Amino acid sequence: MIRAVLFDMGGVLIGLENARGLPESRFDWRGRQALLSLIRNRGGRVREADLDRLLFAPWREEYDKRYEHGHEADWKPHLTRLRRRAGIRLHDATLLGTWFRPYGEMLTAFDDTVDTLRELHRRGLRLGVVSNVPMPGALYRKILEREGLAEWIETFHFSYDDGHRKPSPAMIRYALTALDITPEAALMVGDRRESDIAAGRAAGVTTVWLRREDAGGPRPDHTIDELSELTALVERLGATR
Ligand SMILES: [Mg+2]
Repeated sequence: MIRAVLFDMGGVLIGLENARGLPESRFDWRGRQALLSLIRNRGGRVREADLDRLLFAPWREEYDKRYEHGHEADWKPHLTRLRRRAGIRLHDATLLGTWFRPYGEMLTAFDDTVDTLRELHRRGLRLGVVSNVPMPGALYRKILEREGLAEWIETFHFSYDDGHRKPSPAMIRYALTALDITPEAALMVGDRRESDIAAGRAAGVTTVWLRREDAGGPRPDHTIDELSELTALVERLGATR
């Protein structure tokens, strides 16, 4: 009997516009302009090139090693460097949130996300999010709240905060513990086989691949083409177990 469904976030619940879930191109530019204004308004001394030199470039170097490290790159040392050189006292969350905002504001849930979560919840399933993200989870959680998804979700696990990233099964295990559910009673739904399905298999849960273009990976237990197919799948699994 399936009692819980764990979801990957990007490409499954909401569209992230790019594979990294980061402000890029014009959203990156707008975010940087906002960040410069904020710092200058607080009396900080910083040129546009300093943002890259002190913050983004050194962070990116660590970020590129996330696969070998098995965890996300920490923004803290780079924010500390920026703060010291610019002579400002702004919090990490304020600085990152300012850069992220123009990007975060345009992210939206897919058309069938709210209805699917509501229906699964109505059927008594416990729902969780297990997501690899390069920035603090609070930034993404705010989007899930704004899009009306968070109210159906009981437990949130973001790799930046949890210290592990899929394909490690660690975040799935944390989610199962939080929900007090055994692996046999849970589904992991994701759009990337090399991370979502691999993590699900390692955690011993039933895996569901939302079929999208990906880099390949382990074979899922089930494949769906639309998120809305989940309700029928859960019913079928519930009936056969
Ligand atoms: Mg995804």
